[in-house]
Amino acid sequence: MRNLLIVLSGPSGVGKGTIVGELLKSGKYFLSVSCTTRTPRDGEREGVHYFFLTKERFEKLIKEGGLLEYSNHFENYYGTPKAFVESKLKEGDVILEIEVDGALQVKRAHPEALLIMIVPPSEEELKRRLEKRGLEKNGNAEERVKRMRYELSKKEMYDYVVVNDDLQRAVDEVKQIIKKEKGD
Ligand code: 5GP
Repeated sequence: MRNLLIVLSGPSGVGKGTIVGELLKSGKYFLSVSCTTRTPRDGEREGVHYFFLTKERFEKLIKEGGLLEYSNHFENYYGTPKAFVESKLKEGDVILEIEVDGALQVKRAHPEALLIMIVPPSEEELKRRLEKRGLEKNGNAEERVKRMRYELSKKEMYDYVVVNDDLQRAVDEVKQIIKKEKGD
């Protein structure tokens, strides 16, 4: 049995946050908390949802080699603190919930990482979900649809693609994949 670095990605609105929440309920995984330069949304807490940094501090972290990966999207930096991931991997499985550019950087640095992309049943369905969610998140509808297409265009580079047609079914599939990869 080996400890896994599990990377979950998928376009915004696809439900990956909910899937991660379900996985964490088992108490089996460590979730990496990312750094970002975006402003906190209502209810978001420092060190829980993100470490909220200034652009200067983020760029210093990049220079110091403190990030396992980072990317600049929706006009902000997002990145994974390296030290946390490396120390927790000695204790158990670690989950990263990050977008595609960062995920592919992780795969280059850690070819053994398990990359899972969560996709919607159809592009139309995701567009509907994004419209329902409103404009408070990440740019206008057009930008988000563009980003969604970009993310989906990278799915062949992932180890597994899971369709979130039904939350419980998708969670079970992700759990099965992890179990298989761990050789349990
Ligand atoms: P949000 O601003 O809605 O919290 O996140 C926007 C996007 O950034 C999501 O797709 C999320 O998965 C991604 N993201 C969050 N943390 C990181 C990170 O550390 N690195 C990268 N590359 N993407 C991240």
